[in-house]
Amino acid sequence: MTTTTPAIAAPSPGAPLEPTTIERRDLRPDDVLIDIAFAGICHSDLHQAKSEWGPGTFPMVPGHEIAGVVAAVGSGVTKYQVGDRVGVGCMVDSCGECDYCQDGTEQFCVKGNVQTYNSTGFDGEKTYGGYSQQIVVKDAFVCRIPEGIELDVAAPLLCAGITTYSPLHHWGAGPGKKVAVVGLGGLGHMAVKIAAAMGAEVTVLSQSLKKQEDGLKLGAKDYFATGDESTFEVLKGRFDIILNTVSAKLPIDAYLGMLRVGGAMVNVGAPPQALEYNAFSLLAGNKVLAGSMIGGIDETQKMLDFCAEHGLGAEIEKIDADQVNDAYARVEGSDVRYRFVIDVATISA
Ligand code: NAP
Ligand code: ZN
Repeated sequence: MTTTTPAIAAPSPGAPLEPTTIERRDLRPDDVLIDIAFAGICHSDLHQAKSEWGPGTFPMVPGHEIAGVVAAVGSGVTKYQVGDRVGVGCMVDSCGECDYCQDGTEQFCVKGNVQTYNSTGFDGEKTYGGYSQQIVVKDAFVCRIPEGIELDVAAPLLCAGITTYSPLHHWGAGPGKKVAVVGLGGLGHMAVKIAAAMGAEVTVLSQSLKKQEDGLKLGAKDYFATGDESTFEVLKGRFDIILNTVSAKLPIDAYLGMLRVGGAMVNVGAPPQALEYNAFSLLAGNKVLAGSMIGGIDETQKMLDFCAEHGLGAEIEKIDADQVNDAYARVEGSDVRYRFVIDVATISA
């Protein structure tokens, strides 16, 4: 016996998403059934629904920015109760035993973490994501959404929030540090809010000045257009940390030039194309070129608590299920302010 739930799926790579139904497993002792309220649209959903990162499995129900309410719990669950406000991000399982799982970085599980969608569980079943009305998730992969953050603006924190919080924390964003955020989209706008809340001095590097007013309101002190060549000259040697959230290939050398000696450029953007850089762009200045992938479950909870403490949520455009394909086109065209969030109650299969 399983539960049937309405969902939105991409039937094949790049095809428009359409309503369907999917099955959710019966609760195991450590499972939580969540009535999903909202699901954010991450650019990773587009990359995967188009098989840009390699072949995906279809039909695909994307969605790894999930916020909702606990509807039932398995017999062994003590951490959550019916009615609790909870979130689920990019992972729904990992081996729990390897060094990385033990260390709280389940995203690097040596057996491979089970992704929320476009993945296969350790039980051999395909996973389906948050563009749906219900999901069943192991309790250890569920986070608590603190009071004070509404579910709609909380949903994007489960990916955009943790993906930016983790590297900003790791690389020491804080008072006295100059942080540049490249790309003011879903991840970028959360990076600006979080870095500013950490006490860093934040600069936005966007393709144009179109969103300058927003960037400054979000907490940035400066805002520059990368479409203007002089930006790279003006900002030469300026930043301690450059967080690259761009979904497309960038000229890395030009950005490395804006780092101080010993500074770090951290890529969280995941374009399908390879990034290239010149060795001297790093050598001349002991610079670091790094990457960062989401964050562990404990750290995700810490990020949610940090956001609640600082009154941070995402800037969202709430949409109905039948607007998802239009929203995808707008994300593709960098026309998002700053995260689309699907009201999943509007899915009618
Ligand atoms: P998004 O909302 O589409 O934002 C990306 C931003 O990048 C755009 O708003 C735009 O900002 C800028 N951009 C887009 N195309 C560009 C181009 N050709 N040249 C320069 N700038 C460009 O996407 P997102 O959801 O924030 O995701 C961003 C990337 O992070 C995606 O590749 C996604 O897969 C990846 N991601 C990685 C992780 C991880 O764990 N590392 C987690 C989640 C997502 P401006 O208009 O301001 O220039
Ligand atoms: Zn994401």
